[in-house]
Formats: sequence, C-alpha cells, structure tokens
Amino acid sequence: MNIKLTDLDHRKGEPLPLRFTLDPVELKKRHQEIRGLTPVEVKGEAVKLGDLYYVNGEMSADVDFVCARCLTPFTQHVVVPFQETFSPPDAAVELDEDSDIVPLEGDEIELVPLMQEDFLLEIPVFPLCKEDCLGLCPSCGTNRNEQMCGCKNERIDPRLAGLADFFKNSTE
Ligand SMILES: [Zn+2]
Ligand SMILES: [Zn+2]
Repeated sequence: MNIKLTDLDHRKGEPLPLRFTLDPVELKKRHQEIRGLTPVEVKGEAVKLGDLYYVNGEMSADVDFVCARCLTPFTQHVVVPFQETFSPPDAAVELDEDSDIVPLEGDEIELVPLMQEDFLLEIPVFPLCKEDCLGLCPSCGTNRNEQMCGCKNERIDPRLAGLADFFKNSTE
C-alpha cells in the first residue's frame, strides 16, 4: 500500500481515505507470542497540510495468544491507533534526530513496513488471559483459575529453609 505524494498534493488538504489489510502470515512470523491472527484491518486517512504529509487511523485484528501463566489459549481483539508524519524529499524543514517526522526518499509513502512495526510493538511479550490470572500450581499443575488444588506452595528457597527452621524453633 503506497501513497503517491502527487495524489495528496492534488487534493489540496482534502483527506484521502485509506482502507487496506496487512498480511497476517508475515506478522505471525515476526512475533513469537502471536499464535494466529486475522488479517489486520487498517482504516485511516492521509492528507497534506503545509509542507508535511500526515497519515493516521487505526489497525485492528483478532489475535490468538497462549496465556504466559496458565497456558490457556485465548483470543484478544487488538486495536492499534497510528499517526505518522512525513516530510517530502525536498523539504525545507530541518529534522533533528529526535523528530518523529519520517523523511521520504522517493515520491511515495510506503505504509506497510511502518504499519507492521506499529502493530508488532503493541503485541505483549507476556500475554495474560486476564490481568489477575492465577496461573498453574507449581506442584500439581492444576489451573488455579478453574479450581484450587490444596497444595501448599510456600515458596521457601532451599538455601533459606534451615533459617526458617531456626526461627520456628526459636519462637517455640
Ligand atoms: Zn491465564
Ligand atoms: Zn496443586
């Protein structure tokens, strides 16, 4: 999905509606937590205002994850807003290094690579089925969101176990 700068120049500030999809296969390959996803719907608009080109909108897809704590597969509707600013190759604007403005090299805006980056940045590296997921019991493997197993999982570092006994004995 490339936008010709001349197309935007000719619209004289009238936004150009954008609607396309990102290929899910490539996105899935680039993020190990994505187990599957629908094509990413991109909706937005592009416009030239002054010397700069602006593209903004929203991407959305249903993404399949596996919960990092309880290992249950779940699907989440992911919505990623985006906003990019581009300066034309012959721009008079000075770009400092911290600038969010993307300098264009050709006569087109190449949207797909930028949209892919924006989308992947929003994908969690530690996906959770719910924020307070209780995870699996480290002793018996029961999913503690579904039932309590009754295991006592007191986390005592074996190196400190002797110390725990010492304190127990000293208070008796
Ligand atoms: Zn979970
Ligand atoms: Zn258990």
